[in-house]
Amino acid sequence: MKPAPFVYHRPASLPDALALLERYGAEGRVLAGGQSLVPALNMRLATPGALIDINRIPGLDEIRLGAEGLVLGALARLDAVERSPLVAAHAPLIAQALPHVAHLAVRTRSTVGGGIAHADPAAELPACLVALGGTVRALSRRGSREIGAAEFFRGVCTTALGPGEVLTAVVVPRLAPGWRSRFDELARRHGDYALVALAAHARVADGTLAEARLVLAGVGATPVRAARAEAALAGRRMDAAALDAAARALAEELDPPSDVHASAALRRHLAGVLLRRAVRGLLEA
Ligand SMILES: Cc1cc2nc3c(=O)[nH]c(=O)nc-3n(C[C@H](O)[C@H](O)[C@H](O)COP(=O)(O)OP(=O)(O)OC[C@H]3O[C@@H](n4cnc5c(N)ncnc54)[C@H](O)[C@@H]3O)c2cc1C
Repeated sequence: MKPAPFVYHRPASLPDALALLERYGAEGRVLAGGQSLVPALNMRLATPGALIDINRIPGLDEIRLGAEGLVLGALARLDAVERSPLVAAHAPLIAQALPHVAHLAVRTRSTVGGGIAHADPAAELPACLVALGGTVRALSRRGSREIGAAEFFRGVCTTALGPGEVLTAVVVPRLAPGWRSRFDELARRHGDYALVALAAHARVADGTLAEARLVLAGVGATPVRAARAEAALAGRRMDAAALDAAARALAEELDPPSDVHASAALRRHLAGVLLRRAVRGLLEA
């Protein structure tokens, strides 16, 4: 199929992009890497009246360590983020997750802003951002605001971004002493969206996970934080019984969907497999 007709704009500055977004309202759509939006246009799953291509706007592709933490600009390409020494040092969870996103050719175009704004429930980056306690920077002609990642994802491909708003960057807090990360996922084939993914971020002290943040993708409409499993891990010696108890707590608190890719029961099982791997990895690292 071919896309429905649309007007195409390629603004050279953020103010121009914001003016266009305001002019078109709900009919306007930001185009970044195009790796999700263009297929959706071609299948007429999306029929915006206007595309606002932000690729030529300078300064949106930064990868920078600032006082507020690691700043990843909306137009930072996923392959650049994956290769960044700053990301490896300050957000190892993201560095571990990105090789699971599609294939290299797709990652050379896909952007951080697109991966977050698209808000696919099985996507890796949203789960990482929630696990790391990151924030999303949004800008419109009304001003700028910062939205906590936990509040940003509202449903399947639905976010807190309002009309006229563009995502300009995400910010990941600086890695605090003692915190370690493990990302892993299970998919039918490498590069497919995850059946289940687990972004695990934990403070390791005295051979235990003193605090843990566990966020899963593929098990709900948004990234899902596993509070009961986190509590079952916190401060415990991780022998076989404790690991079994944490996996049981996780299975009980998840309510994953059944679809053509996997049943709910399989997703629950896979989540437990990932949890066991993550705990071992975090304690051994
Ligand atoms: C074969 C294939 C496999 C894939 N596998 C995976 C996978 O395993 N995991 C995964 O996470 N993704 C996967 N993707 C999706 C890919 O990573 C997308 O590129 C990404 O989700 C969207 O990024 P983009 O820059 O291409 O955004 P686009 O496609 O340009 O935009 C996607 C959506 O986000 C909005 N948007 C983009 N940027 C902004 C912004 N700055 N502000 C406001 N709104 C914005 C657009 O309006 C649109 O609604 C796959 C894609 C392909 C083609």
